[in-house]
Amino acid sequence: MQTRFSDEQLADPKVAEAESILRKCVHCGFCTATCPTYVTLGNELDSPRGRIYLIKDMLENGRPADEEVVTHIDRCLSCLSCVTTCPSGVDYMHLVDHARAHIEETYKRPFMNRFTRAVLAAVLPYPARFRAALSLARLGRPFAGLFGRVSALKPFEAMLKLAPARLPPASSVSKPATHAASTEKRGRVALLTGCAQSVLAPAINEATVRLLTRLGIEVVVPEGEGCCGSLVHHMGREEQALFEARRNVDVWCREIDAGGLDAIIITASGCGTTIKDYGHMLARDPAYAEKAERVSALAKDITEYLTTLDLAEQQRKDMTVAYHSACSMQHGQQIKAGPKLLLEAAGFTVREPAEGHLCCGSAGTYNIMQPEISAKLKSRKVKNIEAVKPDVIATGNIGCITQIASGTAVPILHTVELLDWAYGGEKPEKLKALKRSA
Ligand code: SF4
Ligand code: SF4
Repeated sequence: MQTRFSDEQLADPKVAEAESILRKCVHCGFCTATCPTYVTLGNELDSPRGRIYLIKDMLENGRPADEEVVTHIDRCLSCLSCVTTCPSGVDYMHLVDHARAHIEETYKRPFMNRFTRAVLAAVLPYPARFRAALSLARLGRPFAGLFGRVSALKPFEAMLKLAPARLPPASSVSKPATHAASTEKRGRVALLTGCAQSVLAPAINEATVRLLTRLGIEVVVPEGEGCCGSLVHHMGREEQALFEARRNVDVWCREIDAGGLDAIIITASGCGTTIKDYGHMLARDPAYAEKAERVSALAKDITEYLTTLDLAEQQRKDMTVAYHSACSMQHGQQIKAGPKLLLEAAGFTVREPAEGHLCCGSAGTYNIMQPEISAKLKSRKVKNIEAVKPDVIATGNIGCITQIASGTAVPILHTVELLDWAYGGEKPEKLKALKRSA
């Protein structure tokens, strides 16, 4: 694609990067067929190619964002399906990141939209605040429909509907500690316990610690780590995202220097995509560039790490698992076969639902900020999953777990919970009521 940026504009390294991304796009439109918003809405401006044109026009003309650009960029899920599809290697992820930061700097959103986004940014990344908010949401749940009557309040309706009826108690695994290997030690890793996940489903990190320590891996939960920054990063809140990234880089580098780390284990693929990008996010910060690169190189999804440990094949189980690959897993991190192979080796029959490349509509805060599109994607995803008649659904991202669970009665677990059970751990609570099991 031809671009017309001035030398003065290109002196800004962020604009120069955006320009080099734009130049790679050859307008072929292959990406449109696999874009969930184009497939759902049928509008070129809600396709990757349409958004690329909007971003180009805005940046090239040095214009502040306007309502049209904001509408179509806000509708983008950042699912990165277009990145997987694009034959020209267009780095849409960093282009849309830049566009979102530009929107945040140059566009004044309507009051309720600003308020909702500020609430999400102030609550979701902090487990104690998130837990308190979910407790309040349970009280507000009966009034969810009232919020839905006013367009600007629909995100609050979505929040109330997504809040679980019952919260699991806080887990000791979320606290800083070193969990010793229970067999001969063969590795040492740090575990990111995360923010929203540690409140909604602490069983995921509990299963991770049990499985890894049984396999001879020492697991450290370092003091001071926190949210990876992805939630605010996708809102264009660059400074807040960089603050979170720098804090985690400091914590993990301290741990690397103190005891050495073979990997930084992440159990939410949305967080994994962002942490693997820390090296890029902090590349222009001389104090952090090298440290962030080290951290990104060590970041591993739990399933990615487990595939390096040669787990023994297990006896077949009478249980069919529908494997839902989160967008951040298959498109963001390009991890595709590993989780399925692990489940199969653990004795499960694995089925892949149709249209596996399409997002379930969760996408960080998308199911709150864009509830209508999100609901359509959820129905489509659930229909495809239920068509394979699974006993259980497995995935690697808490956002997908929450989203899909709100649309089906089939139990949904993190892949590592099934693996922990298959390799000698506790049977997951959600499976205890199932008649069919190994
Ligand atoms: S990230 Fe997803 S929703 Fe956004 S343009 Fe690409 S395919 Fe479409
Ligand atoms: S597939 Fe790639 S090159 Fe083709 S229009 Fe989409 S982003 Fe541009």
